[in-house]
Amino acid sequence: MVPLAPFAYWGSIMSERKINFNAGPTALPLAVLQRVQGDLVDFGGMGLSLLEMSHRGAAFGEVIEAAKASITGLYGLPDTHEVMFLQGGASLQFAMIPLNLGVGGTYLDTGTWSQRAIAEANTVGRGEVLWSGADTGFRRVPQQLDLGSVDPASPYLHYTTNNTIYGTQYHYRPEVGVPLIADMSSDFISRPVDISAYDLIYAGAQKNAGPSGVVILIARKDLVRTFRGDERVPKILRYQTHAEKGSMYNTPNTFGVWVVGLVAEWVAARGGLRAMAAENEAKAMALYQTIDEHPLLEGHAHPDSRSRMNVTFRARTPEHEAILLERAAARGIMGLKGHRSVGGLRASIYNAVPRASVDTLIELLREFKG
Ligand SMILES: *Cc1c(COP(=O)(O)O)cnc(C)c1O
Repeated sequence: MVPLAPFAYWGSIMSERKINFNAGPTALPLAVLQRVQGDLVDFGGMGLSLLEMSHRGAAFGEVIEAAKASITGLYGLPDTHEVMFLQGGASLQFAMIPLNLGVGGTYLDTGTWSQRAIAEANTVGRGEVLWSGADTGFRRVPQQLDLGSVDPASPYLHYTTNNTIYGTQYHYRPEVGVPLIADMSSDFISRPVDISAYDLIYAGAQKNAGPSGVVILIARKDLVRTFRGDERVPKILRYQTHAEKGSMYNTPNTFGVWVVGLVAEWVAARGGLRAMAAENEAKAMALYQTIDEHPLLEGHAHPDSRSRMNVTFRARTPEHEAILLERAAARGIMGLKGHRSVGGLRASIYNAVPRASVDTLIELLREFKG
C-alpha cells in the first residue's frame, strides 16, 4: 500500500496559482495535486508510475478499493449500495439509465443537463417530464408541493441535484413513490446526503471530485447486479457487466480513479461532508449577500433554489460584465464568465475553492462601481 502522508491544508497556496472559478474541469485541492505530482513518477517506491501499471496488479487494486472505501466512508453507505467507476462522462449515464432500468422514466426538467438526460430517454424509448422550469428561465427547481403524482409504474424519477449552468440546487429530496435517480455531477461530496434513499446516483468527477474521464456511480446492488433491459443492449452498456467485474470489465481510467480517491480522502481529512457543507454554505452565503447588496449586480437563481456550488449573477449591462471580467483577470481571477447558453457571470465555488478565493472575489465585487 502507498504510504498515506497526511494532507497539508491550503495554507501553502503558491502565489502564481490563479484563483479558479471554472465550472469544470476545475480547481482541485492543491494538496491533492502536490501528492499526485510527488507520486506520479515513482508510485509508492515501486519504480514505475501508476500510469504505467496494469490495472490488474495489486497496486491499482489497492487504489480502487481505497477510493471506494473513502467514498463509502464519506457518505456512510450501507451494505445495500455499491460504488462503481465508469467512463463516458455523466452523459453516458443519460443513456445507460433507460437502457438498464426501462423506458417510461419520469424526469424533472431543470435545464440543459436534465434535458440531455430526457433526450436520451426519448432516444431509447420515452421519458415523461413531470415538471419543467423552461418557461421561468430555469431560475428555480421545483419544491415538493409542485410535483404532481407519478405513475407508480414509472421505473424511476430522475433529477439533477445541482444545475451547474443556472446555479440552482435542490435543498430537499423529492419523494414521489418510485425509485429515485440523481445526477449529482456538480455537488457530489459537497454535503451530507442519505444515498440509501436513492436507487442510483452518478457524478462526472470533473466538477467537484477529480479529473474528467471518470464517473462515480453509487447504486443499490440488487438494481445493478441484475440486468432487466432488452437483450440487444450491448454488454458494455449494462450495469451488471461493470458490477460483476468490479468496475474492471475494460481498462478503467486508472489515473482518474486514483485522483478521485485522493480527493475523497482529502475531504475526510477536512472533517467529512458535514464540515465541507458548512464551508460551502458559508462561502456561498457571503457571495450571495454581496451580490444582493450590490447596486449593479443581480442574482440569477430564485433564493429558495440557490446553488452552493455555482453562483450565477448578472451585472446591469454586458459592458459592466466585460469590465468586471477584465478587472478579475488582472487580479488572477479566472472562470467567471457564465455558460454560453445563459450568459452573465458565474462563480463555481466547489469544495476545492478556498474561502480566501471567495473573499478576494467579494472584495473585487464590492469595489466595483462600474
Ligand atoms: C457537466 C455536467 C454533466 C456532463 O458531464 P460529462 O461528464 O461531460 O458528460 C452532466 N450533468 C451535470 C449536472 C453536469 O454539471
